[in-house]
Amino acid sequence: MGALDVTLVVQAAYLIAAGLFILALMWMSSPKTARRGVWAGEVGMLLAVVGTLLHHEVVDYNLIIIAVLLGSAIGAPMAYLMPMTAIPQRTAISHAFGALAVGLIGVAEYYRLAPTEQPGSFVLWALMFEILLGFLTCTASVIAFAKLQEMMSTRPIMFPGQRILNVIIFAAALVIGGLLIFTPASSALFPVFVGLALLFGVLLVIPIGGADMPTVIALLNSYAGLAASAMGFALNNKLLIVVGALDGTSGFILAVIMCKAMNRSFTNVLFGGFGQMAAGGAAAGTDDRPVRSMSADEAAPMLEMASSVVIIPGYGMAVAQAQHRVAELYEYLEEQGIDVKFAIHPVAGRMPGHMNVLLAEADVPYDKLVELEDINPEMPQTDIALIIGANDTVNPAARDDPNSAIAGMPIIEADRAKTVMVVKRGMSAGFAGIENPIYYNENTQMLFGDAKKMAEHLVKELQEG
Ligand code: NDP
Repeated sequence: MGALDVTLVVQAAYLIAAGLFILALMWMSSPKTARRGVWAGEVGMLLAVVGTLLHHEVVDYNLIIIAVLLGSAIGAPMAYLMPMTAIPQRTAISHAFGALAVGLIGVAEYYRLAPTEQPGSFVLWALMFEILLGFLTCTASVIAFAKLQEMMSTRPIMFPGQRILNVIIFAAALVIGGLLIFTPASSALFPVFVGLALLFGVLLVIPIGGADMPTVIALLNSYAGLAASAMGFALNNKLLIVVGALDGTSGFILAVIMCKAMNRSFTNVLFGGFGQMAAGGAAAGTDDRPVRSMSADEAAPMLEMASSVVIIPGYGMAVAQAQHRVAELYEYLEEQGIDVKFAIHPVAGRMPGHMNVLLAEADVPYDKLVELEDINPEMPQTDIALIIGANDTVNPAARDDPNSAIAGMPIIEADRAKTVMVVKRGMSAGFAGIENPIYYNENTQMLFGDAKKMAEHLVKELQEG
């Protein structure tokens, strides 16, 4: 094949890949077409990689083969072995590596191009943007990973003068970036620019508390996409521009949706350290009031006598992989003529749509999943709110305590139901690390145990009943 033919093949592969990525996003927005969306994305990515490898500038495949083998040796076990519940931290670490790659390519391109580029050129602008966003996203994602993996405290880390320091560091990075664009003689400052970007990433995420991490992940997704798009401009690669823009905007839209779901100010999250996060609320384990508990054989007859039950799943259901048993429980109760619904909080679990995915896997009809704003008005008439491994998303402190770390976050108002049953193993806190007053209410009964085993017990008791 001649050079022209190869270029045409590469461009065609890029064009089809870009189309497939757009279709993937569209299809992934509904559970019915999501599988097709994943396939489209995978085929698109394969085409993009093959197209890139055919590029005439790629002359030595040996190093690339070694890198592919090394990357696959790390990536494949990670994909197979990492549990579903660890998806947010896996996403965070993927962003960190992706952004690091973007930043490093930016550094290589800077040293290759800067000596010959016209000061103030568009390529230099794109490179500085790419390097700043790439490196800050890298360290911000590492901190997000450490928080989500609980390798460091999920509580906000704040210190006096933090906002001023953040503003100074960001402004210094912008000034140095400007100098690097317009005055070639200032290239000695380039490592300082990289260092400031790395430092700013850390400072951006440390003041953000555990409860706000979902939004941060979506936002870092957006930053990584924008950095990749800038890299596309710097390298004159149209596919990177399109894909980066898609990633950047979809991450941005997701971040806005998550902010709305958690009633957070978008600017606070956007500028991380510039925002003031509430760090208050009682820490878990500080309340010594008694709780009421019952066993599965006591709970089963109560469920059987109810005429309406709202099941509220959360992270614990995902950890226990209890969705199939919970679906059996739902089916049994429905067969008895009881009106059963699932209340889905947008940030229940550890990733957007976590509960929807698990319940779809267990074949729970999609129309039984009711969103927060639609289920809350029904809660006072509901006989039993059955909370399965949810905690923060049903914590009334978000509604009643303005000092709580999750103050203002919309919750599923399980406490307003006539009776509340809570399935969890002990009195541990949820992700936000704070006490949940619902457990001490007079209408609450704790069903202590693993969610899967407890759902199994309940089904057995009901069937034998
Ligand atoms: P939480 O994390 O608040 O609580 C989960 C509860 O499940 C814990 O209190 C735990 O109590 C219980 N649990 C754990 N394992 C089991 C088990 N095997 N069986 C039964 N119970 C179990 O969950 P929610 O879903 O209510 O809230 C999600 C939280 O995660 C929010 O704070 C949200 O902001 C955050 N988040 C959400 C993300 C998203 O995109 N959805 C991403 C990142 C964070 P015990 O140990 O006593 O059993």
